[in-house]
Amino acid sequence: MYQVHRRCPTDAIVSPTEIDAGKCISYLTIELKDALIPGEFHEKMEGWLFGCDICQDVCPWNRFSKPHAEPSFTPIPGILNLSLKEWEEMSEETFNQTFKNSPLKRAKWKGIQRNIKAIKLM
Ligand code: SF4
Repeated sequence: MYQVHRRCPTDAIVSPTEIDAGKCISYLTIELKDALIPGEFHEKMEGWLFGCDICQDVCPWNRFSKPHAEPSFTPIPGILNLSLKEWEEMSEETFNQTFKNSPLKRAKWKGIQRNIKAIKLM
């Protein structure tokens, strides 16, 4: 049996039935409101800027998933290949315009900038 919890970079998956949400990269990069991501996680960020979802990629149940046909899930053109430097140099105004209808708004420009700092400290 494949052990999904072994793939979690921050050991947030404590057991098959328990997640320590405070260690999850998705929580740290999206929901955490602190000005800094705690230093103990910097080496474990694996370059994730917004969310993680490694556990979704490796979950055995997800082999049954099907490609979506939902247009609103289509990535915003031009953002998939941005370098970390380009993300870092993006102004708050550009961020707000680009992501006005995107879940990235939840972290806000400030949160994304904070996440970049944590990734650079890896
Ligand atoms: S999203 Fe990433 S950090 Fe969070 S539990 Fe899943 S693998 Fe771990």
